Amino acid sequence: MAAKAEYDAAIVGASLSGCTAAILLARAGAKVALIEKRPDPKAFKRVCSHFIQASAVPTIERLGLYEPILEAGGLQSRFHSRTPWGWVEPTGRREAYCLNLRRSLLDPMLRDAAAAQPGVELMLGQSAERLIHDGDAFGGVGVRDRNGKEREIRSRLVVGADGRDSRIAELARVKEKTLPHNRLAYGGYFEGPKPRFWPDGAVWLLDPDMAAAFPTDGGQIFYIAMTHKDRAPEFKADPERALVEHVAAVPEPPPIRESRCVAPVIGKVEMPNRVRGPIAPGLALVGDAALATDPIFGVGCGFAFQSGEWLADSVSAGLSGSEPLEKGLRRYRKKHRNQLGMHARLIHDYSTGRKFDRIERLMMSTAVRDAKAAALFEDVGTRRVTPPQALAPMAVRIAIVNARRLGRVARGSRT
Ligand SMILES: Cc1cc2nc3c(=O)[nH]c(=O)nc-3n(C[C@H](O)[C@H](O)[C@H](O)COP(=O)(O)OP(=O)(O)OC[C@H]3O[C@@H](n4cnc5c(N)ncnc54)[C@H](O)[C@@H]3O)c2cc1C
Repeated sequence: MAAKAEYDAAIVGASLSGCTAAILLARAGAKVALIEKRPDPKAFKRVCSHFIQASAVPTIERLGLYEPILEAGGLQSRFHSRTPWGWVEPTGRREAYCLNLRRSLLDPMLRDAAAAQPGVELMLGQSAERLIHDGDAFGGVGVRDRNGKEREIRSRLVVGADGRDSRIAELARVKEKTLPHNRLAYGGYFEGPKPRFWPDGAVWLLDPDMAAAFPTDGGQIFYIAMTHKDRAPEFKADPERALVEHVAAVPEPPPIRESRCVAPVIGKVEMPNRVRGPIAPGLALVGDAALATDPIFGVGCGFAFQSGEWLADSVSAGLSGSEPLEKGLRRYRKKHRNQLGMHARLIHDYSTGRKFDRIERLMMSTAVRDAKAAALFEDVGTRRVTPPQALAPMAVRIAIVNARRLGRVARGSRT
């Protein structure tokens, strides 16, 4: 017979998704082991432009981290999108504000909050290497510390919060789909003149390339270039120069040439989209482990916070024994699919490196001219609304705006 579980949940990965799940599960009464392979409590994810979409702000508020993020210098930002037809401007609605704080500050803040949460035991410098089976379900993880010492952590639920290359997903053999992407991403921190929309972010949708300027804490701006992978040799040879040239060439460019790069420009070429079945018996995946998209639309941090929250809310009853755990896991899978499924499909489709299709062109050109269409564009872009929810009202705006335009053209041709 299997040994008794010492923990309700063993969460592998103490970054955004893992810490969120750990804090909220422990608040609901669970005893949580939070396992992190990196020994340094100040460790952080280095390749990330950390623009946190507004969809995740309620989760951050619930974690009690909204004010601390602002006190650490984090910025409340909206985003302005420069399309080939002009700017789509943000609405200024409170609920559409996003957040931006460097990961070097955000990750340790979240980890500290998890470590301080009664019910969470943070285990640093422990790498999860195998899964323990308990009958038909998973019943814990085998970890190894930096000295090679092994230990078993038995739990009723195992959570893989271990990022896009999730070892837990691989060990559990969950279903995985890998979809191609064709754009590289290189970015870096700069100091200098404030870009036009400060403290808002700006994104250039260059069809098919992209560039962005994200103001962040400490007066720094994170500039990022996303372009076809066939330009990888140029970016690898001189990342800073390639980034500056790419960003300076956009229409109405931000002042990158007048700014000073304050940290090495870094980037990634291979970032395939990964979609995994987010549950198995006794196991769940959150954050990038469940869904790692091409970062082109800056959604991964938000999805990490949100999926950590959805999992905790879905399985708390199961862990407290008031319903079967599997029922909560199925609830989580449904929520994950309903909330993120269509966002993911659209991002995957665009990340092939293709140009905008007819519908995207119609939506953007309408949003440039019409405030109501711009609000819908912002709702979906900040991930507060799913694409199917916005589709019908957007179709109405496209019809109205274009009917007016055709009317003007017809009147003009009669006079
Ligand atoms: C170029 C680029 C730009 C991006 N820009 C943005 C952006 O602007 N906005 C946005 O929202 N998202 C962005 N993202 C995506 C974002 O970085 C991720 O989606 C987010 O970090 C996922 O969080 P996570 O907690 O799921 O995983 P991660 O942050 O990847 O954390 C995984 C954790 O698991 C630990 N771990 C791994 N394996 C083990 C193991 N075997 N045992 C123990 N611990 C383990 C790791 O050490 C790490 O701490 C970007 C990504 C890239 C590549």
